[in-house]
Amino acid sequence: MSEHRTTVAGVTVDTRHWIGGQRVASPRTFTDASPIDGAPIGEISRGTATEAGAAVAAAKVAFPGWAATSRAERARILHAIADGVEKRLEELANVETVDNGALLRSHRRGVMPRVAHNFRFFADWLLTLEHEDFATRGHTNHVTWDPAGPCVLITPWNAPLMLATWKVAPALAAGNTVVLKPAEWSPLTASLLADITAEAGLPAGVLNIVQGYGSEIGDALTSHPDVRRISFTGSVPTARHIAAAAAANLTPLSLELGGKSPLLVFADADLDLAVDLAVEQYDNAGQVCLAATRLLVEEAVAEEFTRRFVARASRLRQGDPREESTDIGPTIHPRQVAKIDGFVRRALAAGARAVIGGHPGEGQYYAPTLLTDVRQDSEIVQEEVFGPVLTLQTFSGEDEAVHLANDTRFGLAATLATGDPERAERVTARLVAGTVWVNCFFVRDLKAPFGGSRHSGIGREGGTWSFDFYCDLKNTVTAPKGWRHHG
Ligand code: NAD
Repeated sequence: MSEHRTTVAGVTVDTRHWIGGQRVASPRTFTDASPIDGAPIGEISRGTATEAGAAVAAAKVAFPGWAATSRAERARILHAIADGVEKRLEELANVETVDNGALLRSHRRGVMPRVAHNFRFFADWLLTLEHEDFATRGHTNHVTWDPAGPCVLITPWNAPLMLATWKVAPALAAGNTVVLKPAEWSPLTASLLADITAEAGLPAGVLNIVQGYGSEIGDALTSHPDVRRISFTGSVPTARHIAAAAAANLTPLSLELGGKSPLLVFADADLDLAVDLAVEQYDNAGQVCLAATRLLVEEAVAEEFTRRFVARASRLRQGDPREESTDIGPTIHPRQVAKIDGFVRRALAAGARAVIGGHPGEGQYYAPTLLTDVRQDSEIVQEEVFGPVLTLQTFSGEDEAVHLANDTRFGLAATLATGDPERAERVTARLVAGTVWVNCFFVRDLKAPFGGSRHSGIGREGGTWSFDFYCDLKNTVTAPKGWRHHG
């Protein structure tokens, strides 16, 4: 580690901000540690209102030039960024794993290819973005998507580069400039992205990255009058704070928030598939917004489901996320371990039973946990834990299944396991959820709208929905030739 750089997994990472195409240091730093062993891995510039203001100013200066850049040229540069991500895929995967503790094999095979795809997809979508003209009493309506201006993008630590680029790519494709604020628990790959975008020829100031604690730098970004869009992925309390800050300027917001999603297992389901889907919810040590953490199982098959689940879950290997054989890695931070354990302790004290787990492991590892005998109105059923903790409740019949599924303040996703397509259709129609998966999980296409209802968020990301958010939509109405207004 030197003053402005650190070497992680053999990769040198600049630990300063990236503002107006320059590296900028703050007088103070914060320590970034690896969840794998708690060891410090970087001293990161600790941004304040000064750097936030400088980044927004740089984005404002760069905006007219980037907005005027042709769609084809913007798309070309986004593809060049994707090339850079692919070229440095191994480095990005290794650094991300040390920084946030998610599995190296997932970063290599799923997450980082997806990062590149984020850029390619929105580059290509931009070129097809159009709305069919339509006529009104002989006049032509022509809809266009105009770049909005500087956008502030604030992202969490559970899938740092994937979630950041899911916003950065459409914002840039749309012709906006960006200030990205990555999470303080996983700041490193965003810094590598800065290098990649510079190598790809993205003009200075089009993408700016400021590091730091949300509580210290957040307000200066979200209440800035020159910011035209705020897109946030994170927790509900932070979202409330950001929405209040944005209210001063009525800055449009997109919020992708937490969840408490259900997995409904009907008696007619392929039970082995249902068990696979349930065990998959421990991925990324349960630190997934979409995770179906509430297993709702029809009474008739609950005992058999539980037996198979326990057999399957007990084969999971928890350990170093860099090992190919590991299934579950560590939790992001000691504070998160304590938070998870607090939820579990209170649930046990309230009468829940731990079928498996129910306690922390060594260091930052939390044992995969399944709790039964939980009440619908209890904290463990109603609140997002964001750790490897699932609850199991039983139901009898569709009405009760739907009632339990919908009875939280969230509405991000729902998963159904059933052998009856008509039941799937009936139940899906009654669920409150931005995404419903039937006999599958986590299949996501960037063409599809993604987001949540109720406290899971506001707005949708993906395909044209992303451009609708990041642009000012304009309808131009043109009179036919020779037309005269007759009052
Ligand atoms: P968080 O809300 O604590 O932090 C998210 C980001 O907000 C960080 O970059 C943080 O620095 C910043 N922040 C904190 N205070 C701020 C403030 N006052 N102003 C501006 N920014 C501020 O969330 P987290 O713990 O990092 O992430 C976990 C949460 O994110 C979970 O609730 C999870 O469900 C949610 N999440 C949602 C999705 C989704 O797509 N719906 C995806 C991933 C994670």
